[in-house]
Amino acid sequence: MLAALGRTQKDVAGIGIGIGIGIGFGIGIGVPCPVDSATGKPSWPPFMPAWDDFDIPARVRSHFDCAVAVDNDANVMAIGERATVWPDVSDLIFVKVANGIGAGIISEASVIRGTRGIAGNIGHVQVPREAGRLCRCGNPSCLTAAASGEALVEVLAARGLPTASVDDVARLVLNGNAEAIAAVRQVGSNIGEALAAGISFLNPKVIVIDSSLLSPGEHLLAAIRSAVYAKSMPIASEALSIVETQMGGQAGVVGAAIYAAQQVFTPEGMQRLLRATENPAH
Ligand SMILES: [Zn+2]
Repeated sequence: MLAALGRTQKDVAGIGIGIGIGIGFGIGIGVPCPVDSATGKPSWPPFMPAWDDFDIPARVRSHFDCAVAVDNDANVMAIGERATVWPDVSDLIFVKVANGIGAGIISEASVIRGTRGIAGNIGHVQVPREAGRLCRCGNPSCLTAAASGEALVEVLAARGLPTASVDDVARLVLNGNAEAIAAVRQVGSNIGEALAAGISFLNPKVIVIDSSLLSPGEHLLAAIRSAVYAKSMPIASEALSIVETQMGGQAGVVGAAIYAAQQVFTPEGMQRLLRATENPAH
């Protein structure tokens, strides 16, 4: 049985509770940075450096004796969206465009995390066209520096437009501001070009996009689609769907709950369940 609690919004982590057999339970957490899947600790988080190697599972377990599953937020969103909307699809990429850009990759029905949890970290793919824009990671032309919500806000504010947040950009687009629309479409093109390279590696069937920049129309999605189809091999893109998330913020919550439940049924999780069975008051 799963109980999905909490809410995911923008860069806030998703938290889900997976309940196993009604006795022991697990807590799933998604955080907006790479996570070492062996330890559940953030691994080299450029946007939240103080969290590097912080033992989130131990901190949570100091309050709850249960399995604690921590993963990158895009990964848990990919898990939640696939389980709910695309259960028959084995190859799916979930792209989250917020202040940063990240992707959760599901290949042959398994999440791809990589050696240090960096897999799917497309925000740091280099975009040569944008060379010179310094990313927080120190590299000069990362996708995040060129195409994140934060970068978009900065670019438009520098041109004198009233943008202090991504919501302001969305409002301008909704009002038909040509400069804002062009900037959003350029962001979409940059993201699409970065994704096109990944499509040759992974051959996904579905790419799901989550961003508050989607709300004011098809500009972002259309630009991503256009760049992907222009830059990928026809054999890889002919059966590919690029769509907006149907779950929105709930994808992370549901995905975190599923990930937590998966951890409950590991050998360590089962031992914890048995301890709880032997000592119900624990
Ligand atoms: Zn970077």
